[in-house]
Amino acid sequence: MRVFLESVSFMSSSLKSTILAAGALALATALATECGAQAVKSEPGAAADAQIAVALRQVSAQRIQANIEKLAGFETRSTLSVQDPASVAAGRGIGAAREWIKSEFISYSKECGGCLEVKTDHFTEEPGERIPKPTEITNVYAVLKGSDAENAKRIVLVSGHYDSRNSGTLDGNGDAPGANDDGSGTAVSLECARVLSRMKFPATIVFLTVAGEEQGLNGSRHFAKMAKDEGWDIEAVLNNDIVGGDKSAEQDHSVVRVFSEGVPSAATEQDIRRIRGLGGESDSGSRQLARYIVEVGRAYDAGVKPVLVFRLDRYLRGGDHYSFNQQGFSAVRFTEFREDFHHQHQNVRAENGIEYGDLPKFVDFDYVAHVARLNAATLAALAAAPAPPANVHLLTKDLENDSTLTWEASPGGRAAEYEVLWRATTSPEWEHVQNFGNATRATLKLSKDNVIFAVRAVDREGHRSLPVVPVPER
Ligand SMILES: [Zn+2]
Repeated sequence: MRVFLESVSFMSSSLKSTILAAGALALATALATECGAQAVKSEPGAAADAQIAVALRQVSAQRIQANIEKLAGFETRSTLSVQDPASVAAGRGIGAAREWIKSEFISYSKECGGCLEVKTDHFTEEPGERIPKPTEITNVYAVLKGSDAENAKRIVLVSGHYDSRNSGTLDGNGDAPGANDDGSGTAVSLECARVLSRMKFPATIVFLTVAGEEQGLNGSRHFAKMAKDEGWDIEAVLNNDIVGGDKSAEQDHSVVRVFSEGVPSAATEQDIRRIRGLGGESDSGSRQLARYIVEVGRAYDAGVKPVLVFRLDRYLRGGDHYSFNQQGFSAVRFTEFREDFHHQHQNVRAENGIEYGDLPKFVDFDYVAHVARLNAATLAALAAAPAPPANVHLLTKDLENDSTLTWEASPGGRAAEYEVLWRATTSPEWEHVQNFGNATRATLKLSKDNVIFAVRAVDREGHRSLPVVPVPER
């Protein structure tokens, strides 16, 4: 019942904004002809790419089930658990899990003629609150390098954490199957790698699995810092953590939550002053990514719909996307709609008729496959798209009711045209779009004071970049 009511209130708010927007749309349609631009569409959606749609059908719930059961079978994947050669050989502990993940990526690479580069990011974490002694942490990842020389440096990334925990954060010995948290997210990263490695994209896709999440985001922090220090051009990070669709009675298997930060974690004082002055609290790069996922969810039938939560993470909880946000990257978190707290961060046991523990039997493998499809569709759409336009500005020199935007061509030479998006300042999603062809300047008969604008690049096949909100230019 609660699920039902929440869905209704979510829908009615978007219905309201649609009704409010209807008047503005009629006006914009009338004005589009006046501006000499192409037709205005009411739904700024992305068109489906037939090849991507075919690839999504290859995502396998059976594969995902086998991978989650395999991960749970290492008994514990606590970052503090054993990782010496004997335990790796015996198939117990985080070292054995790490070696198995590596071998999976390598087997996918063999199937695509060596298209994946399988790598590790290895370091020693010094003692801290949840790390009692110096601990070896290894992130395992596979790189599907972009096929276009100019665009291969652009990166989209999917991640899950392969470490697990039970009731005690410092317990490196007791069973911690971690099927949902986060065998599910690890399985999403693996399955995206298996399916998308059969395709070619202009931009690069990185399939990441990190450790140390439960000890304090140690693995992702190290990886994100490395990416920043080495100047990686990461456009999007999709973090999947607890996407198992726990089979509790009140679960809603038709949706997955997508959390995104509002004011960027990496914003400077100057950025924050501008955000405050312009009402930019809901326009971080991460939030544009979240909106992009909604459009992907409409264009492709993943089997699950994203529900945007305009919040960094669940109440007072955290995840690996935050490590990327802190380095200034756009990153969001996917999590099932309703978590069952008996089935995460708990020792496996039964008490008063309640079963505790994060076991595979509580995971809905079809649901994980749906979430994997939504992730794969987003990664593919972004990796196929041109780079976002550069230096997007909104001219504010003269006081006027029209709005003029300027931008520089999308780097990498793949953009064929550009679209200006806009929405009411109170609206959660983009409401309108106008195509300006291959221009780098557009004037709209709309006041910048009343709406929020963005510009995105489109290629010849209709792949759309992430939108960029303009900065004011005096
Ligand atoms: Zn987790």
